[in-house]
Formats: sequence, C-alpha cells, structure tokens
Amino acid sequence: MALLIDGKKIAQDMVGEIKAESEKLGIKPGLVVILVGEDPASAVYVRNKEKDCEKAGFYHKTYRLAASTTQDELLLVIKDIEKDCNVHGLIVQLPLPKHINEEIIINAIPENKDADCFNPSNVGRLMTKKKGDSPLLIAPCTPAGIVELLDRYNISIAGKNVAIVGRSNIVGKPMALMMLNRDATVTICHSKTKNLGEVLKQADIVITAVGVAKLIKKEMLKDNCVVIDVGMNRLKTGELVGDVDFEDVKCKVYAITPVPGGVGPMTRAMLLKNTLMMAKRQKGCE
Ligand code: NDP
Repeated sequence: MALLIDGKKIAQDMVGEIKAESEKLGIKPGLVVILVGEDPASAVYVRNKEKDCEKAGFYHKTYRLAASTTQDELLLVIKDIEKDCNVHGLIVQLPLPKHINEEIIINAIPENKDADCFNPSNVGRLMTKKKGDSPLLIAPCTPAGIVELLDRYNISIAGKNVAIVGRSNIVGKPMALMMLNRDATVTICHSKTKNLGEVLKQADIVITAVGVAKLIKKEMLKDNCVVIDVGMNRLKTGELVGDVDFEDVKCKVYAITPVPGGVGPMTRAMLLKNTLMMAKRQKGCE
C-alpha cells in the first residue's frame, strides 16, 4: 500500500502556523470573498473559506451578491475593497454568471490583494522568475499547495520527470512553471495528447487536474511514482473521487494524495498563507 499524503493534516498544521505567525507579528490579516449568484458548489467552498478564516483568527467578510449583479456593480465593489486597509486578500469566487466577463474581473483584482494569484501581473512574475531570484510573495493556491505537500513529505522535485495532466490557467499551467522553477523536467498533457499512458509511464511524479473520474489506471504509471490527484469528480452515487483510480493504483505507486483530503484542503491553506504574506507586506513586516 502506498504512502498516503495527508493534505488535511498538513493543512491543519499550516492554519495553526499561520495563526501563530500573525499573533507573533501582532497583525490581523483580512480576507474578503465575493460570491455572485447561487452556484451550490461555490457556496460550499465559500463557507469552508469562512471557517478557515475563523480558525486562523483572520478578519473576514463575504459579499454575497445577487446573480443579477452587473459587471459594473461588481467592479465598484472591488474598487471599495481595494481602499479598505483591513483587507489584505480578495478573491472572487469563480465561475461568475455568464453576463460577467471573468477576464475583466480578474484583471481588476488589485495585484497586492490578489489572494488566489490570478491577476496576470502576478502570473507573469511566476513566468519570468529566474534561478536565484528571491521567492515569490504569493503563488497560485492549488499548485503552491502541491509543492508544499511534496516538500513536507520530503519528496524531492529537482531532476525528476514530472508529468502534469491538464493545462488550465488555475492549475496545469502554473503547476508546470512551479515545477520548472524547482528544476524538474516537465511534460504537460491535455485532451489532445496521444498515448497518455506512454507519456505518464516516464514520470516520477504525476499530477492530474482533469475533471474525469478515475481516468488514470495502474498500467499508465511507472512503478513507485508519486501521484498527486487534483481532480474532484462527483459520481452519480454522490461519492467524490479524483482523476486517478485510487483502488487500482494504490499498490503500484510510492505515494498518493486521496480525494477528498489531499490537495483540496491545501488549496484553502495556501489562500490563508497568501493573505498573510500580503498583510505582512502591506504592514511593512517584510
Ligand atoms: P479545466 O476543465 O479548466 O481543465 C481540464 C484539463 O484537462 C484541460 O486542459 C483538458 O484538456 C484536460 N483534459 C480533459 N480531458 C482529458 C483527457 N481525457 N486526457 C487528458 N487531458 C484531458 O479544469 P481545472 O484545471 O479547472 O480543474 C481540473 C480538476 O481539478 C477538476 O476536477 C476540478 O474540480 C479540480 N480542481 C480541484 C482543486 C482543488 O483544490 N482540489 C482546485 C482546482 C480544480 P484541453 O485543454 O485540451 O481541453
């Protein structure tokens, strides 16, 4: 049986560390979440973020806006939050209703309060980071959470063949950059990749962010590789599963993240960490 990478436990540890650091510095980081409309999955994510803020001792506020909110009204709310010095981090929960242009909204999130690291200026910093540069203040939450998990389990990245399945702006692409910045040899796969299994078989670390339940089977993986499963797929039975067929692969791999309890809690912990980092910068603690 593979080593189970316990994201839930590491995330809990991180929340405790973030709380202790804020208290030691005498700062109260503030996170604002904007939720537009009534997407049920988004409502659950937002409630979890509120709970995390409570645990970490953060100031927090959620704007629950009607689905009919216009783009201009949303932009005005963001402008107000930009001026609020109790708020160090802001996220706009995606997806937004169809009549609102996500790109315009993401561009409007102030760079210095961009808790999810979605703003193109912050993504650009990740892109242009060179070896020897000082670490970035913030990084996209899901990929940053994965790097944190690997580090805390002493799974080395440098020199490894890393295959990433999925090329979204929020997971696959930034993940590839972060792995490259850590000296991995990176392959990015997507829906047009031919012979996915042949590609994955070369990888020491496989990271999947696809959204297809149980896509990855044991015959697609190298013996003793590390598997990080970002996928969150709801089966008709109600069960939440990843992109990897956990039962099928668990005896072949060295380590694997479960779904739930792997990457998901780490994404939320990194949101708090980004907010703390921005609070420290805004208060002049670093
Ligand atoms: P997207 O839908 O934006 O991207 C999915 C990617 O998977 C695309 O690049 C697509 O390729 C690729 N893909 C689709 N089918 C296949 C296939 N059969 N073989 C290979 N590649 C394929 O998804 P996200 O990145 O936003 O999310 C991916 C999953 O991760 C979802 O289940 C989501 O719920 C979950 N997620 C979990 C998070 C967490 O914290 N745990 C955070 C964010 C997402 P192409 O580009 O060619 O279309």
